[in-house]
Amino acid sequence: EDRLIDCKLTPEDVEETNLRPRKLEEYIGQTKVKENLMVFIEAAKKRNEALDHVLLYGPPGLGKTTLASIIASELGVNIRITSGPAIERPGDLAAILTNLGDYDVLFIDEIHRLNRSVEEILYPAMEDYALDIIIGKGPSARSIRLDLPKFTLIGATTRAGMLTHPLRDRFGVINRLDMYSPEELNLIIQRSANILNIGIDEEASYEIAKRSRGTPRISNRLLKRVRDFAQVKGDGFITKKITQDSLEALGVDQIGLDEVDRNLLLSIINKFSGGPVGLDTLAATIGEEPETIEDVYEPFLIQNGFINKTPRGRMATKLAYEHFGLKYE
Ligand code: ADP
Repeated sequence: EDRLIDCKLTPEDVEETNLRPRKLEEYIGQTKVKENLMVFIEAAKKRNEALDHVLLYGPPGLGKTTLASIIASELGVNIRITSGPAIERPGDLAAILTNLGDYDVLFIDEIHRLNRSVEEILYPAMEDYALDIIIGKGPSARSIRLDLPKFTLIGATTRAGMLTHPLRDRFGVINRLDMYSPEELNLIIQRSANILNIGIDEEASYEIAKRSRGTPRISNRLLKRVRDFAQVKGDGFITKKITQDSLEALGVDQIGLDEVDRNLLLSIINKFSGGPVGLDTLAATIGEEPETIEDVYEPFLIQNGFINKTPRGRMATKLAYEHFGLKYE
């Protein structure tokens, strides 16, 4: 089932790679991260060295993959994109590593999902640009070391805490991406509308921005859905009125909460008297995976003060009650 607010990549998003900014100056927001990267990229280029390995973390849809591609293009090198679950055996990773060119970027999305034996190949690769291969079996087995190209690993993860310590320690640059302000999302929407040739006024794009849960991927997706409404119900131009009507029809409320968000909050309030309730119990109650709740729904609800995470479980806040016009006691 396809959810509008879902932050996961859909085929439609993949088609829309033309919405991806290609240069650091086109990348909106994340000012601190950008400023730092700019310095590190300059320095690496001046010293003629590979950029230090970079870890990017934050909820899905905030621009980690986009930023990795931009870093490669600012360095003037190639990028190879893969993901933790896609690399099944140590040999798969060895093949990728030996095929990199000097200074290339290897991007591993969902890097916390690498399996142990694959992850161990990464340690010497990151530290010494080396690949240790075991030849033979039993007492006669010996290890030989192959040189790898000097490369930069960019790892992305939704939660840095899920990385093992040895892996995390090998990243020289660790950056957290923050949720975007409505003002920043507004710029992103204007930019996307421009690229897609969509007519939209400032009020309307700000309205979409406010309902995007701080996430550019959601902004772009909502923009495209609202465009559909504008074409069918109007003359194609997106106004604030059309935006409000269509987002309401899509079940996205004024602050961007959708059906699942409301279901989640109302379950805590009604079925567990406001909490605390454990993640697994909550997940079973609303029929979602615990990981999906933690990665996709919770970050926004916690950041905006609708849920408190306590050692005994999740609690609905006063703000959550008020959002539904309920009395908090
Ligand atoms: P992640 O890898 O964190 O899941 P992506 O890099 O795939 O997120 O970003 C999702 C989409 O949002 C991209 O296709 C891009 O169009 C848009 N986007 C993300 N960050 C920015 C940004 N800072 N400025 C403009 N567009 C952005």
